Amino acid sequence: ETPTAGSRAVGSWKAREDAFAVARLREAGANVIGSTNCDEFGMGSTGETCQRGFTRHPLDATRAPGGSSSGSAAAVASGVVPLALGSDTGGSTRLPASYCGVVGFKPTYGRVSRWGLVPYCSSLDCPGFLTRTVSDAAVLLDATQGRDALDPVTLPRDARVAALARAVEYEARAAAHAESRKGKKSSFEDVTAPRGFLRSRPGFPLAGWRVGIPREYFVAELSGETERAWTSIADVCQEMGAAVVPVSLPNTRAALAAYYVIASAEASSNLARYDGVRYGGAAEARRHEEAEDSEASEDCPFREASASFRGAAFGAEVRKRVIVGAFVSGSAENARYVEKAQKTRRAVSDDFADVFRKVDIVLAPTAPATAPPLHDDETFAKNDEFAKTRDYSSRASASVAAYAADAMTVPASLAGLPCLSLPVGLGVATGLPVGVQVIAARGNDADALGFAARLEARVEALGDEGGGFGSESLADGRSAVGWGERHRSCC
Ligand code: GLN
Repeated sequence: ETPTAGSRAVGSWKAREDAFAVARLREAGANVIGSTNCDEFGMGSTGETCQRGFTRHPLDATRAPGGSSSGSAAAVASGVVPLALGSDTGGSTRLPASYCGVVGFKPTYGRVSRWGLVPYCSSLDCPGFLTRTVSDAAVLLDATQGRDALDPVTLPRDARVAALARAVEYEARAAAHAESRKGKKSSFEDVTAPRGFLRSRPGFPLAGWRVGIPREYFVAELSGETERAWTSIADVCQEMGAAVVPVSLPNTRAALAAYYVIASAEASSNLARYDGVRYGGAAEARRHEEAEDSEASEDCPFREASASFRGAAFGAEVRKRVIVGAFVSGSAENARYVEKAQKTRRAVSDDFADVFRKVDIVLAPTAPATAPPLHDDETFAKNDEFAKTRDYSSRASASVAAYAADAMTVPASLAGLPCLSLPVGLGVATGLPVGVQVIAARGNDADALGFAARLEARVEALGDEGGGFGSESLADGRSAVGWGERHRSCC
């Protein structure tokens, strides 16, 4: 059985009522068939911190599906379900979506209620969606958005999201209709177009859109194939009529460190509730109490028992975050770390606000590289990549590598922005899925989805026409990214 929130500390404890998003999906007719694996309390980027086993990558079992919403991404990518919920605090929906080749959407902070979501870092936590298509993400957002009395940060319903959900559905129907009438005299008359939300001009579906390419995302850690995929997609946007311009987000580098300070500080407070008495693990706590009787002091036996429960129940990554979080928020002197991190968070938000005065969309890679190898012993022995890079030679450096994988998703999280990871093909070097991020201004979820839907259609068409784009960038004439056989057989 999947432990709740991936943690022994919660065990098989289950809430008595549905989370807000789950309840709304059921009301909309969804058939909820199960819960999926995730990193412990959402802390992780690969799925490896889940306490009851890894989730494997659906295309390559020696690789990680990404995290923390690992099981949801793998389930959608492998066709077990068409749609899944995830959560996104610093990238946990977008990162696994990118690694697994599905759509991952994080709405504007507050667009979807957090009620029922196990809290990690409450000032960043967002329910997110993993889907095969952008239109499915729009439909899910429309079904779950809106104010909730039980979550004070929720925003009112955005009518544009509802309009978009209808528009993308209409486009899908129109396309299917056109397909079914191929060769016949085509007419769309019997499919009534909703009043156009999507800006478009025939032949140039992204006309009027201004797209920013942030120069700070061209980092040394960016893999060649990811960079080529990203710049090729920027070219595709331009061919589709968008005005593509370089922009600057100067505080990008500092964002990751700030994120890990803020996330740890809030996590140590949020996780205080797992004391071995409330939620799961009561039996385990009692067993600990008995086993370590000598430790239970006269002064506060509960405190001792709870500390020993927490020490045994939390995994290494969670313990590390709780300790770091307690350190940075535990004394007036150390409060400077959190203060500095909050200032950086503000600076990152201001950077985006400036940029969104000039452009409608920021286009960035989702992750610096494709899915990394899993760190199980078997894979370790088999995979030379491990041995060669030495990067993953210890669990400690693996954890640093996992933090680095978040560098491109965390800035939009700190700024509370709506953000979608769109699968654009298989990278020519690794043969694994590559995703690009479509980021819109705060509250403009409909822009992120509408833009991504247009781009998705073109990327698919390019794939159909012979598999890929960006051929100019490779010496042997192969396209940098695509869905074709060439990409599948390259590794
Ligand atoms: N990998 C990041 C972390 O471990 C993000 C996780 C998330 O979005 N839940 O904190």
